[in-house]
Amino acid sequence: MPTLFRRGEFHAFAGDGAPYLYLVPSAAVFRLDDASVAVLDAIGDRDIAPADLARSLSDRFPLPDVKSAIEELVRIRAVKAFEAPVNPPIAPAPVVAAPMVTPPKKRVPLTTLVVNVTSKCNLSCTYCYEYGEDKITEASTKPRFMDEATAKQSVDFLFAESGDQQSVNLTFFGGETLLNYKVLKVALAYARERGAELGKRVEASLTTNGTLLRPEIIDWLAENDVGVTVSMDGNKEQQDQFRVFKNGMGSYDTIAPNVKDLLSRKMRRPVGARVTLTKQNLDVVSIYRHLADEMGFYEVGFAPVTTSWQRDYAIQDEGFFAMLEQFQFLAAEYLEFALAGKRHRFSNVRDTLEEIHKGLSKSHPCGAGMGLMGVATDGDVALCHRFAGSDTHKLGTVSGGVDRALQDDYLTRHHIESKTDCSKCWARPLCAGGCYHEAHTRYGDTQHANLHYCEWIRSWTNTCLEVYGAIAEKRPEFLQQFD
Ligand code: SF4
Ligand code: SF4
Repeated sequence: MPTLFRRGEFHAFAGDGAPYLYLVPSAAVFRLDDASVAVLDAIGDRDIAPADLARSLSDRFPLPDVKSAIEELVRIRAVKAFEAPVNPPIAPAPVVAAPMVTPPKKRVPLTTLVVNVTSKCNLSCTYCYEYGEDKITEASTKPRFMDEATAKQSVDFLFAESGDQQSVNLTFFGGETLLNYKVLKVALAYARERGAELGKRVEASLTTNGTLLRPEIIDWLAENDVGVTVSMDGNKEQQDQFRVFKNGMGSYDTIAPNVKDLLSRKMRRPVGARVTLTKQNLDVVSIYRHLADEMGFYEVGFAPVTTSWQRDYAIQDEGFFAMLEQFQFLAAEYLEFALAGKRHRFSNVRDTLEEIHKGLSKSHPCGAGMGLMGVATDGDVALCHRFAGSDTHKLGTVSGGVDRALQDDYLTRHHIESKTDCSKCWARPLCAGGCYHEAHTRYGDTQHANLHYCEWIRSWTNTCLEVYGAIAEKRPEFLQQFD
């Protein structure tokens, strides 16, 4: 049977004008030389015989160069070589069965436990997934505050599930996390004590709305090396649109002085801001300027609000486009900074560059239900913090452990190979269908691919690939930080 060549699965992009491929099967980035570009162009969208391919390039490249380019492209799977059947029999189209996915053979150890120490909050943000119109938790049947015993059991659960990991991450979350400062303090002291006995390092962090960052709490955070993320949406006008107290009063004037105090302290772990973007608050660049340049956050990360599409604040198509343009503006600035040896604080691009550099190819969109789990105030264990308290997304309890049958079933159903919508998408090694919570909110089904933002994800991933390629061309040593 004659051999034919066909293009493999890749996404072509340019890094500072140089041709690159993002290879879908391996999630690797590959720089092309002139002969390789010509080979791929000559193959185009058809199947071609080796002799025809060589002949079509013979006036531009010596034969040995074409041969070695083809060999290399086949090796990296940018070109597929296959045997073409002679006079293939006409057969009825095969019935395509749903792909069978087996759960990962090796259990992924738990490395991050997000402990919801309270479901209560002193703010009343309109878009909140805990209290807002899209809430999925059965908060009313659970205690509003986690008690000390459950917090300690959560710590024991994390160590027990962490296998032979030498380091674990304990993250406190809410509601407003600091409303249960008393218990999280006890939990961290206990974790550090048990960690020392077990020879495991404990990295601690928390997310707060910033309203309760009193000086003594800031002292404790600094002394205990607790990483802090402040949920903040920008300057006064931007923040006060949605991040309001129960009486409707904006929270900026309460939070800003606390944050300034926090940022003036010497913290081993850098303090970041996490911004929720809504249809009414999409001026990413001005939010960034305020939080990074004026307030001095070490890094600023943005995420579109997770909500059903009918909500007034949901970002729709044109909003995703506007958001993309602003992300691209900051990504270009990030590149400029990187080439000049300066640190830029836009964490969305940094995080994606790291994933690209590490060649991450995700079986699942995030670690939820594997290396990351969330705990509700009563000790129920869920996929992640956003599902903590939801009985339908429960995987076990901190006292009884993980229900392995539930976990395996969940991992099987959510594997990227089970998402037929994503099977032809070049961005799937990095996206893998997107956040389960977003899917649940948009489609009522955690298994559903987040098809409402595919164009945005692909465009943003392409932008990050271009930034990556440009850095690789001009200042490759910058990328060593991601090794
Ligand atoms: S959700 Fe969309 S962008 Fe993400 S992998 Fe699936 S098809 Fe691709
Ligand atoms: S499911 Fe969504 S919210 Fe939960 S960890 Fe994954 S990406 Fe984050």
